[in-house]
Amino acid sequence: MNVLVINCGSSSLKYQFINSDTEEVMAKGLCERIGIDGSRISYQPKGADKEELETPMPDHTKAVALVIEKLTNKETGVVKSLEEIDAVGHRIVHGGEKFATSVVINDEVMKAIEECNDLAPLHNPANLIGINACKALMPNVPMVAVFDTAFHQTMPSKAYLYGIPYEYYEKYKVRRYGFHGTSHDFVSNEAAKFLGKDRKDLKIIVCHLGNGASVSAVMNGKSVDTSMGLTPLEGLIMGTRSGDLDPAIVTFLASKLNVSAEEVLNILNKKSGVQGLSGISSDFRDLEKAFNEGNERAKETLETYCYHVAKYIGAYAAAMNGVDVIAYTAGVGENTAFVRQRVSEYLTYLGTDVDPEKNKLRGETVVLSSPGSKCVTMIVPTNEELAICRETVRLVK
Ligand code: AMP
Repeated sequence: MNVLVINCGSSSLKYQFINSDTEEVMAKGLCERIGIDGSRISYQPKGADKEELETPMPDHTKAVALVIEKLTNKETGVVKSLEEIDAVGHRIVHGGEKFATSVVINDEVMKAIEECNDLAPLHNPANLIGINACKALMPNVPMVAVFDTAFHQTMPSKAYLYGIPYEYYEKYKVRRYGFHGTSHDFVSNEAAKFLGKDRKDLKIIVCHLGNGASVSAVMNGKSVDTSMGLTPLEGLIMGTRSGDLDPAIVTFLASKLNVSAEEVLNILNKKSGVQGLSGISSDFRDLEKAFNEGNERAKETLETYCYHVAKYIGAYAAAMNGVDVIAYTAGVGENTAFVRQRVSEYLTYLGTDVDPEKNKLRGETVVLSSPGSKCVTMIVPTNEELAICRETVRLVK
């Protein structure tokens, strides 16, 4: 089957076109600045150069139309016609408590996604726009919704409840949902497969360390806890998000800065994390460079970041009463040897380590701990698009 995987933001649309039989990416690209002056599309068919084109995209329907045009282009396309697009898989950010698994999209599903809009006001409406755009242009092609939150719906209430009046959970559904579920599911599965084991027999901690970052505890194949909360702001220190903090800081800062709580939240989402701490960058490549040049702020930032990752791993080892596998994934997790090395130094009590030589590897599934370690530490590259493609095929075949 040929599956078009779509990840739609409010002004962007990332896409991959995947042959599900070979799991090869036949083409991929990005539409940016949709509805804004200077819209552009990039398109890269397998084995060929990337094309970039500035062209008006007043809305997402136009963006999807351009993607289809590129995929079916006589010279550079990868299929002959629209008929060769067999299904579309959509990444949906928030499924609330309504979706514990991926689903085939119909009117009822779209309504339920819309009902989750207030839980993810920036993302879900954009995701729905993407679905509507595809529906308008490919009315007969089956579509599947794959939710970032679904994998974590197996968490027990002791993990998802906050210590606030219970009525807020009942009335407003204020609870931990967690995100990056597609990645935590994919990586824990791939880790078990690589080790020749069944995920159902393992206690796995997945550290998805990207620009956004979260840790999850996956016990016997199910997510039992995760660090992001009602929104992706909770948990680890991230690229630009603060992660955990005393909620009183919000009103304290609002009063000191003479701004609204909403504006403080904006600071916590966009100007905090390693970017805010270091004053250098949200990108770990820049931080590592500054660290190697002896920059003290970079050193302090990286130390703080790693300490927080190690604390979460310790917490989840406690939650599962043990841990068999620690898997690092996403941009930082797959590439930044320093972070894996430093975090592992806190974890020798769990019976794991990181071999400095193996730790130089990146971008491939590899065991980093010494042979015979009680707990295996490894890198497992994530692939959310492939995971969405697999889910789409599972549901429409
Ligand atoms: P993601 O959100 O998974 O795409 O991760 C993006 C982040 O990964 C970037 O902001 C960088 O901090 C980090 N990253 C990506 N590539 C590298 C690399 N080669 N070395 C170190 N960090 C990297």
